[in-house]
Amino acid sequence: MDAKVLFNEKFKDNIKCRVCPHNCMLSEGKFGICSVRTLKSDIPIAINYGEIASCGVDPIEKKPLYHFKPSKNILSVGTFGCNMTCTFCQNHEISQNRPQTQYISTNKLINIINEVENNAGIAFTYNEPFMWYEYIYDVAKSIKEVNPNTSVVIVTNGYINEEPLMKLLPYVDAMNIDLKGYTNKYYNKICGAKLDPVLETIRRCNDHCHVEITTLLVRDENDSIEEASEIAKFIASVNENIPLHLSRYFPRYKMNNAATKVECIIEAQREAKKYLKYVYVGNVDGIDNNTYCPKCNELLIRRNGYNTEVMIEDNRCRKCGEEINIII
Ligand code: SF4
Repeated sequence: MDAKVLFNEKFKDNIKCRVCPHNCMLSEGKFGICSVRTLKSDIPIAINYGEIASCGVDPIEKKPLYHFKPSKNILSVGTFGCNMTCTFCQNHEISQNRPQTQYISTNKLINIINEVENNAGIAFTYNEPFMWYEYIYDVAKSIKEVNPNTSVVIVTNGYINEEPLMKLLPYVDAMNIDLKGYTNKYYNKICGAKLDPVLETIRRCNDHCHVEITTLLVRDENDSIEEASEIAKFIASVNENIPLHLSRYFPRYKMNNAATKVECIIEAQREAKKYLKYVYVGNVDGIDNNTYCPKCNELLIRRNGYNTEVMIEDNRCRKCGEEINIII
């Protein structure tokens, strides 16, 4: 379904989309980089409003969120379109193509959330949620008006302009933001974007909701110790309590580099732990991904795959009383 693009401005004879830092010029029938926004009869529109391409119930740890409602499920939905062109994209069928979709109204989606067992709320994920901005804004706002205890989660590349982000954040509880690397060269070459706007998004979100960061370490591209160090130092400069997930890359889509060496991931984790309190590893079997108290090393959450045993009742270590950045 079509919806008017909420952030746009007239520019000469055209209209500029102001949702993300690409600031695409939209003209009749010509789409922006995301392939979802265009001009139709002089009105800037997004063509994916309420169009669901993927829907499932996942453990919240799969987003990944390790410090937000651990052991809960979360209804997860996505549509199509993306403002980045990552050559390793795992979801390129929906991010770079137009798959079959089913229209679900905001009210119907909110009813579905209430039917899921042990559910924390809703996660906008799979493709880039901000490319669905008009719909997620309506859903998130309605949820918070009807039932503020239902959590709204966004799993994003963080490539959004300040104004739309700030308008949405009052209705968001938690975000996992990709920090894909720490050089403009990497963002330009691999993702078709720039680094600075993502860093800004991380800073802004940290002031408004729970934040976790994911970095996919791609062999021979961003898997050096130096880059892991820069990433961790930046996150620590924002908040040393932000959990970082270092994820192992495997060949996908247009990227043929061999899988990242496990030793590189472990070394990157060791380096990042010099600056951050919580650093986890993704896509590696048999790794210790438990949460320990950063002060006394008491076990707080035991994870075995997506099996999660929570041994903390509020946000303090039960042994030493240290405050833990966790929302139960
Ligand atoms: S949301 Fe789409 S159309 Fe708008 S600026 Fe970003 S890529 Fe361009």
